[in-house]
Amino acid sequence: MDYDIIRKSLDIKAGSNMPDYEQAVADFSWRHAKSLLHGFADGKLNIAYEAVERHVKSGCGQKIALRWITKNGDVCDYTYADLSSLSSRFANVLDRLDINKGERVYTLLGRVPELYITALGALKAGCVFCPMFSAFGPEPVQARMKIGGAAVLITTKALYKRKMVSIRAELHELREVLIVDDSESEGSRDFHGLMDATSDQFETVAMDPEDMALLHFTSGTTGMPKGVVHVHEAVVAHNITGRLALDLQPEDIYWCTADPGWVTGTSYGIIAPLTNGVMLIVDEAEFDVARWYKNLSEQGVTVWYTAPTAIRMLMKSGSELPAEHNLSKLRFMASVGEPLNPEAVEWGNEIFGMPFHDNWWQTETGGIMIANYASMDVKPGSMGKPLPGITAGIVEKIDGGVREVSEPLTIGELALKPGWPSMMRAYLDEEARYQKCFVDNWYLTGDLAVRDSDGYFWFVGRDDDVIKSSGHLIGPFEVESALMEHEAVTEVGVIGIPNETAGQIVKAFVALQSGYVPNEDLRLELLGHARKRLGPAVAPKEIVFRKNLPKTRSGKIMRRLLKARELGLPEGDISTLESDEK
Ligand code: ATP
Ligand code: MG
Repeated sequence: MDYDIIRKSLDIKAGSNMPDYEQAVADFSWRHAKSLLHGFADGKLNIAYEAVERHVKSGCGQKIALRWITKNGDVCDYTYADLSSLSSRFANVLDRLDINKGERVYTLLGRVPELYITALGALKAGCVFCPMFSAFGPEPVQARMKIGGAAVLITTKALYKRKMVSIRAELHELREVLIVDDSESEGSRDFHGLMDATSDQFETVAMDPEDMALLHFTSGTTGMPKGVVHVHEAVVAHNITGRLALDLQPEDIYWCTADPGWVTGTSYGIIAPLTNGVMLIVDEAEFDVARWYKNLSEQGVTVWYTAPTAIRMLMKSGSELPAEHNLSKLRFMASVGEPLNPEAVEWGNEIFGMPFHDNWWQTETGGIMIANYASMDVKPGSMGKPLPGITAGIVEKIDGGVREVSEPLTIGELALKPGWPSMMRAYLDEEARYQKCFVDNWYLTGDLAVRDSDGYFWFVGRDDDVIKSSGHLIGPFEVESALMEHEAVTEVGVIGIPNETAGQIVKAFVALQSGYVPNEDLRLELLGHARKRLGPAVAPKEIVFRKNLPKTRSGKIMRRLLKARELGLPEGDISTLESDEK
């Protein structure tokens, strides 16, 4: 493969994409970021064109775009030209079924090629792509399809039977169901039969930058998931963050471990890597320690984007397994989704010879907003610095408005100046909730953080999770990280529980490393360790052991559920809860 052609076409120079952060901040403009894309006349564009067609047009169609590893370990490659013709076929299928521009195309699929083809084909045709996580039960599926007004669903025979049959009659806007592993049957059509019967040529629909492209539901960590609307213009941010925050280069073999059912798996599991012309690894199987190390070594992964829960599970499994693998191709590792404990960053250094680079963003922001960049020193435990082009601040609420706090290390709400391309344009059906996010020209994130005097941002906790104890404001993350340092601990969730004298006291739920037995001695040892590290005012007063902590299916600890259960309150929406053993 001649990488010079693709480098030239994408204007990516050899070496780090951002050798000097401060310089990049000074030079950055969104106009320039947009100019890196192909686009169409009159400022129109289409995410799918940027992801696939432009590479084919520039002569790089034979480059591998997607390497799919099946559950049983077989490998199947798709070039950019393959993705182009398959997504064109799918766009033609939509056309034939009279699914029009702006209509919503849903998937309920595991990580199979049809998911990626559907995403690209739907975008190409000007439809809105909405991926659903395949492990959702019928109720969450129904809720998401209703909210978004699904016109067509692509799924498998088994998933259809288990999740759709009971709810289909309720979905009045759903006109078509396409099944990827079955021939035509009652109420559904054969995806591949339709694909084979159409042309592999389709002219990408030129979209207005503000046309809706993606509908993603949030993780439901703090309550009922919200339907977040993103537009085609978002690709400007996907592309540039892929370069600046993940340092993607055309030679890279890139593995994003997130499922496209969550925003990370689409923004950084499809769009950012493909627009940057890299080779994408997709593993159909679920998390498995041995398999993951095998993937990293056998595929020669160079850039790896994963999440704290997975990293903690790898840490738990020890250092012997990675030592058996050749991981020398890896050059950049990043993490998102939850706070990354300093312990995990150090572990990266020890095992892989490089730190995990934490970065922060939300479904609402559509792309990475704060990050530890390749060229920057990582401060373990910090989320890093704002993306060039993004203004982030710490604000406090005053008289119905907000004011930025300038004093370093002051806890306040993390806020961003609105206006970047991948910012959400709406919460579907929840206009008032959407409007409430914007105050005094700041977008309020709902997360609390501090900024240090070097400009690094540190996560404190979600607004709802912060604990007020004897006049102190305590972030659960700080307490969790201190407990994580203890060798017996794998995972911690910290909450505040009501207390007459202190207002709230800190309580920790701890899952142990294999080989450790929960007993009173260990409990006292952990209490002592936390006191020593945090001081008596911040350390937990109570510690209880749990086999697992309740998590969302995207891997986030659900502190609100720990709290509800502790206080005997209603559990609220648990549609995204991964089953948990107490
Ligand atoms: P919901 O909004 O439905 O409660 P959610 O906020 O978990 O769910 P997402 O949009 O998937 O849904 O997650 C974004 C949130 O995840 C952020 O607001 C933040 O609380 C957390 N998060 C993401 N990355 C980081 C990080 N690097 N450090 C700390 N927290 C993070
Ligand atoms: Mg949220």
